[in-house]
This record gives sequence, C-alpha cells and structure tokens, in this order.
Amino acid sequence: MRNELIDPFMRKINYLRVSVTDKCNYRCDYCMPEQGVHPEGRHTEYLSYDELARIIKAFVDLGIAKVRLTGGEPLVRKNLSSLVEKISAYEGLEDIALSTNAHHLAREAEALHKAGVSRINVSIDSLKPKRFNHITRGGDLEKVLAGVDKALEIGMKPVKFNMVVMKGTNDDEIEAMVDFGLAKGVEVRFIETMPIGPAGVSMMNQHYPADKILARIKKHVGKNLIPSSGKSHDGPARNFVIGNSETRIGVISAVSDHFCETCNRVRLTAKGVLALCLGQEDSVDLRTPLREGITDEGLQQLIVDALLKKPEKHFFNENVHNIEFRQMVELGG
Ligand code: SAM
Ligand code: SF4
Repeated sequence: MRNELIDPFMRKINYLRVSVTDKCNYRCDYCMPEQGVHPEGRHTEYLSYDELARIIKAFVDLGIAKVRLTGGEPLVRKNLSSLVEKISAYEGLEDIALSTNAHHLAREAEALHKAGVSRINVSIDSLKPKRFNHITRGGDLEKVLAGVDKALEIGMKPVKFNMVVMKGTNDDEIEAMVDFGLAKGVEVRFIETMPIGPAGVSMMNQHYPADKILARIKKHVGKNLIPSSGKSHDGPARNFVIGNSETRIGVISAVSDHFCETCNRVRLTAKGVLALCLGQEDSVDLRTPLREGITDEGLQQLIVDALLKKPEKHFFNENVHNIEFRQMVELGG
C-alpha cells in the first residue's frame, strides 16, 4: 500500500506544485511588478534540476500522486523536459501537469509531451491581441494561440485555459472566452483576482466576484450549463459541462469563497522553500538541509514534520493586505 500524507486537519495531501523559476517573460498586471522580481537573484540560490528531482522523489515516496510544474514561466527555464523525464520515472507519480503562458509552447510541446507532461493549463486573459499585450505588458497572443494549437495537435489532454477576470479590463470577454473554449474543445477556468504579492493586492479594486462570473455564463449558455459531478483534478474550481459537448467550465473563487476544507496541496518554490498555504506565511526551507547532505530518510521526515504546520485556511477575505509578503511567481499560482 502507498504512503499517505495527512495534515493536522485530516486533509490528504497528494498534490505538489513546483515553481521551477520565479522569472517570467511576461509581466501580467496582477502577478508581476513591471521590473520583474528578484533581479538580483543569484543563480546558485535556485535549485538545480537534480535537487528539484530529489525533493519531488521524497514527496512521491510519501504519497504525492500529482505534480504541477509552474513558475514564473516554467518554459523560460532551459531544457525543462529533462526534469520531466527524470520525475516521470518515479513509481506512484500518476500525473505531471504544466502551467504556462504558452509563449514558448509551440517550440517545447513535443519534447514535454514525450517526456511525460499530459495536462496543461494556459493563461489567457484576453482574446484581443492589443489588450492581451497590455495586460501581460508585452505578450504576443498569436504565439500563445500557436502554442495551444500545437498542444492540441499532439494530443495533450486536457488543455485548459485560465482567465483572471478583472472588472473594467477584460470582464466583457467572459462570454467570448466560453465560446472560444467550445470552439477549441478546451476547458475554461475563470479565476478571481487574488490579493497575493504587491501586484495582486494593487489589482483588488478590479476584483470581479465568482458569483457574478457564473451568472454571466449561465445567462450566456442557458440550460446548457450543467453542474459537473466528476471530481475536479484541481480542487478549488466549481465545475460545469456545457450541454453534450466535452467543454467544461470552472469558476475559481479563492477570495469570495473558502476552498480550504478540501485543500490537497503544498507548494515548492524555485529556491527550495516549502510553502504550506497560498495565503499564509508558514513555510520550511528544504534547500539548506539538502545542500548540507541530509539523507533521503531525513528529507522525508522534514517534509512530514513540515506538514504539521499546514494552516487550516487562508484569510483572503478578512485581511487582504496581509498577503503582500510573497510573490505569486514564487508560489506558482
Ligand atoms: N506563467 C504561468 C502562467 O501564467 O500560467 C504559470 C505561473 S502563474 C503564477 C500561475 C497562475 O496564477 C496563472 O493562471 C495566473 O493567471 C495566476 N495568477 C497570478 N497572479 C494572480 C492573482 N493575483 N490572482 C489570481 N490569479 C493569479
Ligand atoms: Fe508570468 Fe504567469 Fe505571472 Fe503572467 S501570470 S506574469 S505569465 S508568471
């Protein structure tokens, strides 16, 4: 029988999100400051692929079944498929997913798929090239869509679109994004802006609540929006299917609704910090013991002990300004 990681609130933790870099070629308004983050970050501060793989192995041996590679932008780190290849050999790891802005996806998709990435989430906040370029401060929608087409062509499944809905910026495109998902046969997930990092906090005046997003979608597709009984792989989403299509719609309400009761995940930063909650400071440094020569058993014990510190819930609602201490690119979304 496989090991299981259970936290103090009896939640089974089976999902690890790994931010492989805090750097990104885009600068989305709600995520990154214009000048990027940690421009002074030294190369040696970041975990090598061997170090990342060793930590991931310890988690898998403890019961983690799903890993998502994220960032920053994971595809700005060279040769990501070599990390995927390494970890896809781990017995018990059932699922390797990727979150990307898809700018480099057309170039990388085949190697990643071959190495073991099956599912992929792509951030698309607008279908209007100029607006997309503005929100991302320089992004190229054409490249992103070429990346999506490539992923679909080579059979990555599912491909999902993530749209952060912002009042007055892109909320007029909710219906268009549903239609686009239907046309491509791709799941669309609408995300509330979260007050994480200075960039996220500064965008809270554009927060657009999940209930309103849902009402708009219901009005748009009418009776065809059917609550989905299938279990989501991604926890916090409320899921629906559209008619008898394969298209699913998810609405993620991290702010107006707690999803903490069913939280199944922890996060590893590119510098080797294990972050136990998206919205709380609790974390444990794994890099120092790793570089000081900790044994595999010692590393596993460190992780088990760290899990005891996982908080019950975040406090986005009650105290939004508390979450400026971390950047989303470190946490990986
Ligand atoms: N660069 C990749 C991407 O954009 O998909 C992966 C990293 S990004 C930090 C992961 C997810 O976090 C993206 O879907 C992004 O839209 C979301 N995100 C970043 N900052 C956010 C915020 N303040 N509120 C809500 N979602 C946010
Ligand atoms: Fe980069 Fe993704 Fe953050 Fe946009 S959301 S700045 S693409 S890490």
